[in-house]
Amino acid sequence: PFRKLVAGVNAQVPIKNGVMTPYINFDNAATTPPFISVVNRIIDFSQWYSSIHRGTGYKSKASSEIYDSSRESVLNFVGGSPDKDCVIYVKNTTEAINKLSNMYKDIYGGGVILSTSMEHHSNDLPWRNKFRVDYININKAGRLDLDDLEKKLSFYRKSIRLVTITGASNVTGFKNPIHHIARLTHKYGARILVDGAQLVPHSFIDMKPHCSPEHIDYLVFSAHKMYAPFGIGVLIGPRATFEKCPPDYKGGGTVDLVTHNYVKWAKLPDKEEAGTPNVMGVAALVESINILSSIGMGYIDEYEKRLTEYAANSLSNIPDIELYYAAEKNFDKVSIIPFNIKGLHHSQTARILSDEAGIGVRSGCFCAQPYVQKLLNVSLMEIEERKRGILKNHPGFVRISFGMYNTFDEIDVLALMLKKIVSNKDRYIKEYPL
Ligand code: PMP
Repeated sequence: PFRKLVAGVNAQVPIKNGVMTPYINFDNAATTPPFISVVNRIIDFSQWYSSIHRGTGYKSKASSEIYDSSRESVLNFVGGSPDKDCVIYVKNTTEAINKLSNMYKDIYGGGVILSTSMEHHSNDLPWRNKFRVDYININKAGRLDLDDLEKKLSFYRKSIRLVTITGASNVTGFKNPIHHIARLTHKYGARILVDGAQLVPHSFIDMKPHCSPEHIDYLVFSAHKMYAPFGIGVLIGPRATFEKCPPDYKGGGTVDLVTHNYVKWAKLPDKEEAGTPNVMGVAALVESINILSSIGMGYIDEYEKRLTEYAANSLSNIPDIELYYAAEKNFDKVSIIPFNIKGLHHSQTARILSDEAGIGVRSGCFCAQPYVQKLLNVSLMEIEERKRGILKNHPGFVRISFGMYNTFDEIDVLALMLKKIVSNKDRYIKEYPL
């Protein structure tokens, strides 16, 4: 029902032998195509294209107004506290987490960060070399082990600076019980960061008021995964943190007063947004938030759940398909399914789907290598051999991930193509060597 809202969904792409076919995009966990109205908003904004805050011209005032008023829309969308100075625009989720890790290093100097074994590298690597990082385990089902979380919280206690956790995994789609985790985290006096990159585009998220024990202290996400452009993302957090340290990037816009030997930093959010900001990206993000809100995240969630269940059922009927974490009863996940075809490397399956049917998927470890290693029980010996470059072909999955505009018919095309691959496996292995 949402297909007509999204740009480029009827694109034809060349497949084998130059034949043109409709492109099927099952790689929405990487990036979603933009809403048509987001594209139009960008064109529209070009009328007001002007650098913000510093100009006195009409256009500069108009674009400043667009930029400044946007923060309220962002906060409303995620149930954030009404302090709009605490929305900081960044490039993407990765930059948001790096930024916060720099602030934390500045404020605390050290301590423990509790991350998890199911994080995207972007919510793991920025914390390393700045803090002691420990990882909450996953259980046999690939979900976060909440007993281990409690064990680690009570072990590290006051030295924990932050629990940093993904709202939903970009590998399995599993959602984490973020409010339950927030409650536990706060009980131990720590704060919680939710990586919302995979959650915000698919499910309603509520940061809840500061006074609630289930409050989410920090939330980060990227616009390009929610039908808006690349190059714009959000970091939301408490004023107390953002005010406590000098900016990590310094320069134009971050200061109130400068002499050769004195700097007085600007107030929030300017202090944290060095340089000329991405006003056009912000205008487009607000447009996408307006569309998502007017449809209702609950409605989108429900539709994508149906797509995911339908795909899980279709694929589970195909022999030789190893479907991971799709068939569980408690369907508490976003629209992602990892799978493999027995006897084919994930990269081969992905190439065949693209070359033979115009189906775009992602394959590999999806920037979450520790999680994939655990899910696939990759041995330490194998990892050692990879370090030394002896083994080349990475273990991993083929990942299909749906957006709100995908259709059941597209899933039927995928299922048909997978059946064809399975029944002609030997031929495909020869045609698509590793
Ligand atoms: N976290 C998760 C869970 C993700 O899926 C991604 C993107 N794949 C990121 C972080 C990083 O997002 P970005 O590339 O937009 O910084």
